[in-house]
Amino acid sequence: MTTVGFIGLGNMGGPMAGNLVAAGLDVTGHDVAEGACAAARAKGLAIADSATAAAADREVVITMLPDGAALLEVYRSIVADVRANTILMDCSTVDIASARQAHDMAAERNLPSVDAPVSGGIAGAEAGTLTFMVGSDPPACEAVRPLLDIMGRTIVHCGGPGCGQAVKICNNMILGVSMIGVCEALVLAEKLEIDPARVFDVVSTSSGSCWSMNDYCPLPGVGPESPADHDYVPGFAAALMSKDLGLSQRAAASVDVATPMGAKAAAVYETMVASGRGHLDFSAVIRHVRALVRE
Ligand code: NAD
Repeated sequence: MTTVGFIGLGNMGGPMAGNLVAAGLDVTGHDVAEGACAAARAKGLAIADSATAAAADREVVITMLPDGAALLEVYRSIVADVRANTILMDCSTVDIASARQAHDMAAERNLPSVDAPVSGGIAGAEAGTLTFMVGSDPPACEAVRPLLDIMGRTIVHCGGPGCGQAVKICNNMILGVSMIGVCEALVLAEKLEIDPARVFDVVSTSSGSCWSMNDYCPLPGVGPESPADHDYVPGFAAALMSKDLGLSQRAAASVDVATPMGAKAAAVYETMVASGRGHLDFSAVIRHVRALVRE
């Protein structure tokens, strides 16, 4: 399995595709943004003018796109033209319905397909240490495993088509809630005139420890380097977090499950995006939390 088409070469797709090239695979990419194409070209990818051209005559086609609408738009343009037995693997985070529709489009041509959303952020994409949550029949998961092993460190087959997206939505609901919790604690400590570095030292080694604090602290100069140290340039944009929390709420409604903290986090990020901060990293929600305290 050495020929790959890679569509969507942004913050995540660019480094993921770069790792495949570095591992010796023949990767042709496509993105609608010229800047993303230029950066990918510098990593050794061949760049095609269209998604259809990038996907033609490839053993595997990987998509890493913003949302379900973009995914289905790309599938409408590529599925009819890929060669027989091409494996279609979508690594974007999309709603479960779009993921299943993408699987159905592949099935109409008897193409194996996989939903394999990721966790680990840009740092994980660059280091090849992502976690992949795979939804597919077991043989399709095994067929793409060598590629996943290059781009990631943990590969979990979560179940049939759409199950990877279901697990991803649950993970990101926890992340959205935990980031707001960490921000509230740091702002509270700030108001209580505690050195935030001491809060980090304690919480990161205590029962309050979590990824949002330990690995992605939302305050500059505290903890390991994170988007907070770069004026909240993403990273993982607040607009994407808002999208994911919206997906979690739609999934919860579809099975009559109440997720009050998830709903609250969705509302907080929706307000952040509406206030024009959707382009900032999601950890910049600390500014929003601070504004609430001052009200
Ligand atoms: P991004 O916006 O940086 O990249 C998406 C890319 O897709 C862009 O370069 C865009 O130009 C391209 N694109 C959009 N429509 C297209 C089309 N029709 N054809 C070709 N290219 C198209 O976003 P990202 O941060 O790389 O995230 C990609 C996906 O991964 C999202 O679904 C996101 O939720 C998920 N994700 C992101 C992170 C993160 O930390 N950034 C972590 C886990 C999962």
